[in-house]
Amino acid sequence: MGSFTKPIVWREKERLDDRIADCLTIILRTRGCRWDSCYMCGYTNDAYPATRDELIQQIDMALEEGGAEVVKIFTSGSFFDDAEVPMEVRAYLRDRIRDMGAKKLIVESRPEFVEKERLDDFKGVNLEVGIGLETADDEIRELCINKGFSFEDFVRATETLKEMGFRAKCYLLLKPPFLSEREAIEDAVKSIKAVKNYADVVSLNLTNVQKGTLVEKLWRAKLYRPPWLWSAVEVLKKAKDVGVEILCDPVAAGKKRGPHNCGKCDADVSKAIREFSLTQDAKKLEDIKCECILKWGKVLELESYSRIPLL
Ligand SMILES: [Zn+2]
Repeated sequence: MGSFTKPIVWREKERLDDRIADCLTIILRTRGCRWDSCYMCGYTNDAYPATRDELIQQIDMALEEGGAEVVKIFTSGSFFDDAEVPMEVRAYLRDRIRDMGAKKLIVESRPEFVEKERLDDFKGVNLEVGIGLETADDEIRELCINKGFSFEDFVRATETLKEMGFRAKCYLLLKPPFLSEREAIEDAVKSIKAVKNYADVVSLNLTNVQKGTLVEKLWRAKLYRPPWLWSAVEVLKKAKDVGVEILCDPVAAGKKRGPHNCGKCDADVSKAIREFSLTQDAKKLEDIKCECILKWGKVLELESYSRIPLL
């Protein structure tokens, strides 16, 4: 078997019924997302047209790592798209996870694949399905992200999940291209309020610059900067008042292509964000300090006029 068909596997912590549990996270190498047109997404760079047998091999390899209370599967597309993960493969995974005694399974899917017939196989499983709504604003989702579905589509999918006793996770994107830093914060906060009644948990994803994307072209032309970590802190604090569980894993934090502050405080601020995410304790966000917060304040003030990143 070539290295292209090896899954990527790591262990991390996840929330399970208001406590912290061990999680086995698996990226299955599939043919990738069928839509593959979002301006920030370069995941199909890692796609591989895995056959049914290869996917089952990947699952076996990943689960050799041993058990965990939570198993999280990323396919960089849609777990419930039969073209990506065939029905038999999904059923195989369900059985393996049941046998190893996992208490929760987390997957992700575009809303058009969240259909009762595809979910029936998972009855009795503690299943959480993440949907990349990105923003509750249909105009921003269409013009700045090119996501190809509406808020209504998302609502319908969450209703299907709820009817079947599953949990809905909503991914929101902090700082799509073409928004200023302040607009990005406002959009995320508004979106959290809008999805509160539909999602059991919200995951705030901070935009990073992925290869081969429109976001990368804008970034190279100095027309885009990934969000400040201070912006994420601001959104998380405000989300706490909304009263919804909110997760945030600042991927590539501190790197040029990832969310970052001044360079000096990036490690501390992203650590605080991760601790908040696990504990949901807003105090974790209060003690972080750095003088660059003043620069960030200026950016919030001026970028809505300049329309280009200033710092
Ligand atoms: Zn700083």
